[in-house]
Amino acid sequence: GEGERLQKVLAKAGVASRRAAEEMIEAGRIEVDGKIVREQGLRIDPQTAVVRVDGVRVVIRDEQVYLALNKPKGWQSTMSDEMGRPCVGDLVAERVASGQRLFHVGRLDADTEGLLLLTNDGDLAHRLMHPSFEVSKTYLATVNGEVKNREVGKLLKDGVELEDGPAKVDRFQVLEVGQGKSLVKVVLHEGRKHIVRRLLAEVGHPVTALVRTHIGPVALGDQRPGTLRVLGRDEIGKLY
Ligand code: URA
Repeated sequence: GEGERLQKVLAKAGVASRRAAEEMIEAGRIEVDGKIVREQGLRIDPQTAVVRVDGVRVVIRDEQVYLALNKPKGWQSTMSDEMGRPCVGDLVAERVASGQRLFHVGRLDADTEGLLLLTNDGDLAHRLMHPSFEVSKTYLATVNGEVKNREVGKLLKDGVELEDGPAKVDRFQVLEVGQGKSLVKVVLHEGRKHIVRRLLAEVGHPVTALVRTHIGPVALGDQRPGTLRVLGRDEIGKLY
């Protein structure tokens, strides 16, 4: 059958031994998706079921996976690609084959390199993608033209009008200027499609290369393109 037996899930989560978990089920102390379960051997999906013991949510920590990927330029953010183009799913194929149901949190343009989070923790993914949960993202952009920090920074912080509404950045910094191009750092906390490229194009500096270096407390650091890193407990804690 599908899923895992409830008493096994409870045991894995450290609630009690399997035997004791069976007794807890019998005593009506275990709730799955809002309903008390008294039947032994119910199979549930530990990734999606909401399990409570005496009304308290059980977190199945060891089952959860949080990965930082440096998505290479030219790769799709998706877990599979109908057109057979290289995609993030290819980079985690072994994990997926061994039963991990990973998905990517948000997207990067195929042309963008950098930090993409992968997880099987639906709650976290949902929160990070929700506009009201304002996780900041940092990008390094190479742009055409020599950017005047003051002018462009002011414009971007005050906000510019894009075709799907206003947008603004939290921080803007020029890191290098010369030979008709500039390297700039942009921090913002929204996720509209092509947002960084559109903002910079709007102020006259089209992007020629883009890298995402941070998502909230998680930094790409010197992680090489195409490599994965398991997030530390402290990083996961700060994301929540
Ligand atoms: N903004 C963009 O323009 N592209 C990305 O990939 C991410 C943010």
